[in-house]
Amino acid sequence: MHRVYENDDIVVFWDSEKCRHARKCVEGSPETFNPLNKPWINLNKADTAEIWQAVSACPSGALSCVYSHGIRVVYDEAGCRSVAYDGDREIGECDYQETPDGWNIYHTGVSPEYGGKGIAKRLVYRLAEEAERRKINTVPTCSYAVKVLSR
Ligand code: SF4
Repeated sequence: MHRVYENDDIVVFWDSEKCRHARKCVEGSPETFNPLNKPWINLNKADTAEIWQAVSACPSGALSCVYSHGIRVVYDEAGCRSVAYDGDREIGECDYQETPDGWNIYHTGVSPEYGGKGIAKRLVYRLAEEAERRKINTVPTCSYAVKVLSR
């Protein structure tokens, strides 16, 4: 299961398949990571430095994070894609095609001047999360999406 959590400052990614339940995150920021809550991650309970440190302590790679840089990522159902915006400007997208086997994520692209900000990963995670919530498989053929979603 892939989940992405955001506040105004940071974006946290969680891959449940990699989680070894070592609870380092819970120890590092108990208000943020609480397995008794649903959703179990709440980014509005602690400051960014504490959350960042707790994410960095994750021994399995299940958690990772990036700064949001004011970029918004949304799911565009009609367009079969996720889209990244800087204000009103579209700066990236991740596209899929519906197939009998699931969503074929076939393209991920971000404007070059926005590289290195984790936007492509946010785009892929947003689609993976949406597909999983709908109980639809993802069958990525975009090499970047394959890498992000691989176990
Ligand atoms: S620290 Fe990482 S491996 Fe441990 S419970 Fe948290 S997410 Fe899972």
